[in-house]
Amino acid sequence: MLIDWRLVKALTVRPRHPGSARLEDVGEPDERMGSILVEAVAVGICGTDKEIIQGDYGWAPPGRDRLVLGHESLGRVLDPGPTAGFAAGDLVVGIVRRPDPVPCPNCDTGEFDMCTNGRYMERGIKELDGYLAQRWRIEPEYAFRVDPSLGLLGVLMEPTSVVAKAWEHIVRVATRAFWEPRSVLVIGAGPIGLLAAMIGVQLGFDTHVLDRVTAGIKPELVRHLGATYHASGVSEAGVRADIVIECTGHSQLVLDAIAAAAPGGVVCLTGVGVDQEGLTVPAGLAKAMVLNSLVALGSVNANRRHYRRAANRLAAADRSFLEGLITRRVPLDRWEAALEREPDDVKVVVQLAPA
Ligand code: BGC
Repeated sequence: MLIDWRLVKALTVRPRHPGSARLEDVGEPDERMGSILVEAVAVGICGTDKEIIQGDYGWAPPGRDRLVLGHESLGRVLDPGPTAGFAAGDLVVGIVRRPDPVPCPNCDTGEFDMCTNGRYMERGIKELDGYLAQRWRIEPEYAFRVDPSLGLLGVLMEPTSVVAKAWEHIVRVATRAFWEPRSVLVIGAGPIGLLAAMIGVQLGFDTHVLDRVTAGIKPELVRHLGATYHASGVSEAGVRADIVIECTGHSQLVLDAIAAAAPGGVVCLTGVGVDQEGLTVPAGLAKAMVLNSLVALGSVNANRRHYRRAANRLAAADRSFLEGLITRRVPLDRWEAALEREPDDVKVVVQLAPA
């Protein structure tokens, strides 16, 4: 392939300014971003990107107005730089978060997903340019090599790492007593929910997934996993699950998730979704949680260990299930189409080069 070294197109946005996203030439990536030079293959689009584009989230790098978007990356190494361990042609994913500069005790030990002072940075989200550019750079310690046989499916590594972290924390909390959890209810059959269900099945849980759609790819993918699909409200589904993973962030569903947890259960919140005006916390919430020894925990981001776990999960997964998750591929110059919501969308990716 002939590369025009003078042009690097990227999708940039002025955070907190709705409608400011545009494709522009940003020039070669700054060498200070890392010694490995990567050609972008694909970038997954998620709710966070949409929030940034809508002007609700995101931070530009210090001293700048605009941020290069994109955090669900997949790229091919063009120049591995001087550090051993990577070769030209390797498929890699860039880890999203960087530790805070203080650093806090968690960031100091590589657990930057648990940063305690909020001064962490995130590629494509918070103060660091992202991966939605034709070429990007990465530090060797934040580059994660992808099994080449995964090809384009490697773009699922980042969302899978987020889910692998959630499951790691859930299992630690859930096994705090003698009782062993057996069933899981996942609320929301988007990419995070479906990947959470995939791991639930891999771990041997009786897995249930609930979503409002009644037909199409989502119920099919859930059945393909060997899990049970419910197209109903949470209470109508009638599942009393040991573990509930809420993936929508919808306030009412968060409350429903707590109500659906069995005694001793763990409710994990992974979505920040939509708040509802006028929603009141039901009477008896504390009583239900206390008397049933429930734990509710929030989970965000992932550290390097979780990328390793994610790689194992993707390796053990049925390839046709993973292929079914990527429902649309859009070229870079049609990036706006990636933001539109089509009825059967699960994961939409912007594809910049063949995998
Ligand atoms: C990303 C995480 C990130 C979070 C909050 C999510 O979309 O996948 O890596 O920590 O947004 O910014």
